[in-house]
Amino acid sequence: MPQATARRAIVIGGSVGGLFAANLLLRRGWDVQVHERATGGLESRGTGIAHHPETEAIMREAGVRDEQAPGVRVPGRCAVDAAGRVVARQDYPQYVTAWGRVFNPLRRAFPADRYHHGRDLVAVTQDADAVTARFADGAQVTADLLVGADGFRSAVRATVAPQVAPIYAGYVGWRGVVEEAEFSPEFAPVFEQFTFGFPGRGQTVGYPIPGLDESVAPGRRRYNFLWYYPVDGGAALTDLLTDASGRAHAYSIPPALIRPDHAAALQADAAARLPAPYAEAPARARQFLVQPIYDLESPGMAFGRVALLGDAAFVARPHVGTGVLKAAQDALALAEALAEAADIPAALARYAAARIPPSRAAVARSRRLGAFIERRLPQPEAEPALGLTLPRLLALSGRPVEGISEGIAD
Ligand SMILES: Cc1cc2nc3c(=O)[nH]c(=O)nc-3n(C[C@H](O)[C@H](O)[C@H](O)COP(=O)(O)OP(=O)(O)OC[C@H]3O[C@@H](n4cnc5c(N)ncnc54)[C@H](O)[C@@H]3O)c2cc1C
Repeated sequence: MPQATARRAIVIGGSVGGLFAANLLLRRGWDVQVHERATGGLESRGTGIAHHPETEAIMREAGVRDEQAPGVRVPGRCAVDAAGRVVARQDYPQYVTAWGRVFNPLRRAFPADRYHHGRDLVAVTQDADAVTARFADGAQVTADLLVGADGFRSAVRATVAPQVAPIYAGYVGWRGVVEEAEFSPEFAPVFEQFTFGFPGRGQTVGYPIPGLDESVAPGRRRYNFLWYYPVDGGAALTDLLTDASGRAHAYSIPPALIRPDHAAALQADAAARLPAPYAEAPARARQFLVQPIYDLESPGMAFGRVALLGDAAFVARPHVGTGVLKAAQDALALAEALAEAADIPAALARYAAARIPPSRAAVARSRRLGAFIERRLPQPEAEPALGLTLPRLLALSGRPVEGISEGIAD
């Protein structure tokens, strides 16, 4: 436990980025409190993510002691054409996993009495000595450091860099998860694969993930699918984000409020355009998630005693599959910079200098991987100027932007 004289940190946002930062700072002697807007637990939410050894290492450093497999092991990736024929392969053994497989252990590693639900940040003020957060319920807390880990619509960022807004990329990710036991026997050969599909417009991705209980035992796993689906900005996107009561949600819609007619239209489109048996996944999904794809780049990550981290600072499109890893690396760099100096603004400036270049690189890589969807092309090779072949798309997707092997990097 931190000593009475410990430096105090407020973390805004209790998702993966906030929990990486909170755990790492706590274990370096900081007095940390996490303030999360959601009133209920986030445990059961989320779909699939690519997993990386780098994430695992930072989880251990954050205090996670977990002997379970980090996910389901896949040997590589393959691309199938509109008829379901494999047209490209790439060996790349890796774990694919569920978002909860990272979030849940981080949450268990952090003391429950330091994690506060229902705290909606509305204002941040700071002076030379301290920083203060104010919440919608009237509560107010003061500390030496404030970490804005409150996601792509960050209220913290709105106070320090109000000019930054997410830019819609012209397509959404329809996501869903299906229990392994619910599939037909014909789906079995597909279930184990990490597959990229090109149905003529957009792109599909599918892979196995652990069960809700984190089991990777055959029969207890789940299948994660994602369809990058063109939706024009303006009226079409507004309609997709409008719930059954007629309320139009800004930027994203809670999964439970997605209108059944939109989900049914996606399923009909899947039946018409995805090769069998790939259409089974959307057909059998009970709940969908719609993720409009945005680009977001902040001008900085350090503002006096305020640090931005994870999606609050930079959002790379999901093609790179490194959103969780990027947040973890931000958190580690932040904790390390703060360990070296008593001067918090100076430490945060060093943190920003270390993390802005790789964050920009991730955003640029992800834009490149999604450019053919944005341009409404059937696949990247349809436009040679994009400089992206199918094998290269397979090689670059779902893996860290930094430190990948020779011959693969840009
Ligand atoms: C429930 C959930 C499920 C997810 N599932 C997936 C997934 O399956 N696959 C995937 O690739 N990515 C998923 N993500 C997104 C993923 O976590 C991020 O893209 C990335 O990992 C960076 O995380 P982050 O902590 O920076 O941001 P986020 O994960 O977006 O977390 C931001 C947190 O801040 C909280 N918050 C927002 N505003 C305020 C405020 N004003 N005051 C206090 N708290 C606030 C939010 O409730 C949220 O918990 C999910 C996020 C959440 C919250």
